[in-house]
Amino acid sequence: MECNKSENMRKCPCTYEPCSRKGICCECIEYHKKSGELPGCFFSKAAERTYNRSVEYFASSEKNRWMADE
Ligand code: SF4
Repeated sequence: MECNKSENMRKCPCTYEPCSRKGICCECIEYHKKSGELPGCFFSKAAERTYNRSVEYFASSEKNRWMADE
């Protein structure tokens, strides 16, 4: 199986530039997982732009989003 890097690049919502892992999702996941983080594509647009990729920040930002929707 070949990497769909160009297709992944087209869909990637991560705004952090430059990043050598962009479009190579397996490397992106491995990199962030090592630090207890999640890739940028898990986050809302606003949360992604903070570049805080921690699981804790993901949980709190999603909780705030759900609360705002209620
Ligand atoms: S989430 Fe992290 S590793 Fe993935 S493309 Fe963005 S900056 Fe690079």
